[in-house]
Amino acid sequence: MDNWENLSFLSAKELRELQNRKLHYFVNRRLYPFSPYYQKLFLRHKINPRSVRTVKDLEAIPFTKKEDLFPARNNSQSFLDFILKPDEALIRRHWPKSKLLYLALLKALKGKEHIKQHLEKEYRPIFLTATTGTANQPVSFLYTAFDIENLRVSGYRLLEVFGTLPDDRAVNLFPYAPHLAFWQTVFAGLAHNRFLLSTGGGKVLGTQGNIEAIAKVRPNMLIGVPSYIYHIVRSAGESGKDFSFVKKIILGASAVPSGFKEKLSGLLKGMGAKDVYVMGTYGFTEAKCAWGECPTQMQVSSGYHTYPDKEIFEVIDPETGEVKKEGEGGELVYTSIDARGSCVFRYRTGDLVKGGITYEPCPYCKRTVPRVSSEISRASDIRNLTLSKVKGTLVNFSLFGEILEGEPGVEEWQVELKKKDNDPYEVDELYIYLSIRNDANPQAIREALKNKIHSATEVTPNDIAVLSRKEMLERVEMEVSNKVKRFVDRRP
Ligand SMILES: [Zn+2]
Repeated sequence: MDNWENLSFLSAKELRELQNRKLHYFVNRRLYPFSPYYQKLFLRHKINPRSVRTVKDLEAIPFTKKEDLFPARNNSQSFLDFILKPDEALIRRHWPKSKLLYLALLKALKGKEHIKQHLEKEYRPIFLTATTGTANQPVSFLYTAFDIENLRVSGYRLLEVFGTLPDDRAVNLFPYAPHLAFWQTVFAGLAHNRFLLSTGGGKVLGTQGNIEAIAKVRPNMLIGVPSYIYHIVRSAGESGKDFSFVKKIILGASAVPSGFKEKLSGLLKGMGAKDVYVMGTYGFTEAKCAWGECPTQMQVSSGYHTYPDKEIFEVIDPETGEVKKEGEGGELVYTSIDARGSCVFRYRTGDLVKGGITYEPCPYCKRTVPRVSSEISRASDIRNLTLSKVKGTLVNFSLFGEILEGEPGVEEWQVELKKKDNDPYEVDELYIYLSIRNDANPQAIREALKNKIHSATEVTPNDIAVLSRKEMLERVEMEVSNKVKRFVDRRP
């Protein structure tokens, strides 16, 4: 269904030429003519769309930021300006004679209605996914039938990158919602012609329902949010379930904490599963697709295999905006070269990537497509865990996550900030709540954490409380929330 086989092994030069060609075409025939936002942007900055010929030329175009998509003071629907909207006059003005001639011929042969349908199929929005809006207002991204086809293509490619075999079966545990992760997975199964059950996650079926569904389907592949997959595997393990059929775990919709893959595969080993591959994915609403790691040993990562015919990635210095070289870290910038519906160009994701992008062939699967390093700190996490002053000390909250995730006996955890006696003028208090493995020693874990947290952040928690698993699952809202609540700030 797709040219992925061929595309995956082109030389760096061929890939660059393909991107240059698609970029120039996309800017001149789609983006500049039909995007109200980008037409205005190009005019305002006196950029001639014809001058955009190569990836290097992108540097002349201003970045688009997340804030540009938010409702503006005088325009509550600013996200609509990012949707490509052709009309007859625009088409006449911007399309080449050959294409107009083709349309005229089509009109003569099949009538005006046929052309209208032809264009509507490409440009009419029929579907959307939205950002979760944990940090900001949710932003909706619209898809046309053309984009749905692209969603199928990226789904197909993901399953290829994961090394999916014809008899493989999968269970999708992503929460049922208008979010990219759920739908990308659904379309991946359909496009690759593989059996895939989407349970809707914890909110729809509950822990027991999901475990029973897995026991029934016996999938080789489990797909979902890291914390929820972990929860399901652990609960199933405790009730003595056999998960020996699991071969691959696909994680998405949030960053994979360091040490997580080992922790999860250790659990699965105890349930009879051998040689399990755990692979991460990266995606965001604005790209309308996701990219995946290929199977590797647990301690290494291939990085995310991108689709060079669909997008261009750059890495920039987040302070100066200067474009970084291959392998250098910075902020990821995304440019679509094949979207319809909502479409962003030179879009600053806010995500910081250590190790940037590499154009070397993948040492594991040998594909030559550009790969984005897996060491990504996502903007949503960065924003949620901004450096905050606690007890007068500036604290980097991501350190708490690293320490708590890395502690072997810890299962669920939450960090809570509040004011003493809920009095806004009182001092800050910091509490940590945990549930731990049955065989772990609570006193030893408390001591170890207290020391590690103090030496990393210079803050001493007021208390580290060990709670029952049930209490912790309620506290982090495991079953009801799309994102597990790890950090709660109750300060006014
Ligand atoms: Zn690979």
